[in-house]
Amino acid sequence: MTDRIIPLLDERVRAPRPAIPAQLETPTGRLTDRLARHLHDLRISVTDRCNFRCTYCMPREVFDSNYRFLPHAELLTFEEITRLARIFIDHGVEKIRLTGGEPLLRKDLERLIGMLASLTTRAGQPLDLTLTTNASILARKARALAAAGLKRVTVSLDALDDAVFRRMNDADFPVADVLRGIDAAAAAGLAPIKINMVVKRGTNDDEIAPMARHFRGSGHILRFIEFMDVGTSNGWRMDDVVPSAEVIKRIGAEWPVEPIDANYTGEVAERWRYRDGAGEIGVISSVTQAFCRTCTRARLSTEGKLYLCLFAQSGHDLRALVRGGASDAEISTAIAHIWRARSDRYSELRSQATVALPKIEMSYIGG
Ligand code: SAM
Ligand code: SF4
Ligand code: SF4
Repeated sequence: MTDRIIPLLDERVRAPRPAIPAQLETPTGRLTDRLARHLHDLRISVTDRCNFRCTYCMPREVFDSNYRFLPHAELLTFEEITRLARIFIDHGVEKIRLTGGEPLLRKDLERLIGMLASLTTRAGQPLDLTLTTNASILARKARALAAAGLKRVTVSLDALDDAVFRRMNDADFPVADVLRGIDAAAAAGLAPIKINMVVKRGTNDDEIAPMARHFRGSGHILRFIEFMDVGTSNGWRMDDVVPSAEVIKRIGAEWPVEPIDANYTGEVAERWRYRDGAGEIGVISSVTQAFCRTCTRARLSTEGKLYLCLFAQSGHDLRALVRGGASDAEISTAIAHIWRARSDRYSELRSQATVALPKIEMSYIGG
């Protein structure tokens, strides 16, 4: 059966300019929202463009030649991104992930990485600076990215079978080039490398075992992601979701696995390891086992809108403050008020009714 494609609602418009509170605050590094969650991670989308058309993210029928990507002047500049990153770090952010769209398509990205890598956490430690990529041009870029100060990369790869992968990326892109990108990243020291595989029933679930076999013993961490109802365009249906429990059962039937502890509170992936010592895998169960309770992530869109949840229906236009002449203290206080009011927990509330709600697209806000 072909997917049902739902026309895209342009949710990018819904992001009011935040009010600047009269009383300015000094950040304490421990901002807490209404569900007692700290602000710890910031995901920054550096472009809304991509050279792939993954069917679950940017279906070609919607993201076609008529689709209006953001004009360059709308994007935050590297200086604006770095300024906002510094303000977020003052609020306690210790981890920054660059994403997109395809982040490596942003011109001179190495320069931004250099600027972010020079920032330190409140405790004076280096930032945990990482990037998620489809790896299409990673083989060319890995060394320069590492030299600029990038610590690690996460690579998306949905199948080892070339025909399945080409069908899913819908850009006729071969598996071999992604594997070359992974090797180049490893050689450049961008490790441990995480490999993200979105699993869709009937599309690539036959690839679970081959992917596990390929990456066992490689030192890379393969993570299986449940297909999510992000945005409104990917025709999501619960029937297409392969629950993580099933993924673990299928892998365990071939290679026994056991659970291991999280690295830190709020870690998205549940960690498992092969009993025979061949390494670690992870599952990200956003649909069947919501992890909103420990969600410490804020997201900054390509043109400077702050979103508090991957499934948000509206954002907060920080760029309006940045370009409107607001001071660091004013922006910082506005962010503090926004985070304190946060009560998002979409995945815990997911239902047939919420699936149909208008939401921002994954390619716009990043994963
Ligand atoms: N283009 C880069 C890439 O693909 O790695 C970065 C951006 S992409 C939006 C970030 C991550 O989101 C990827 O690992 C992708 O597989 C995942 N993703 C996109 N749409 C998804 C969906 N509907 N369900 C689950 N994961 C999804
Ligand atoms: Fe592009 Fe990444 Fe979305 Fe695929 S998942 S279409 S590579 S942004
Ligand atoms: Fe966080 Fe929203 Fe995902 Fe819940 S649904 S884990 S609040 S991003």
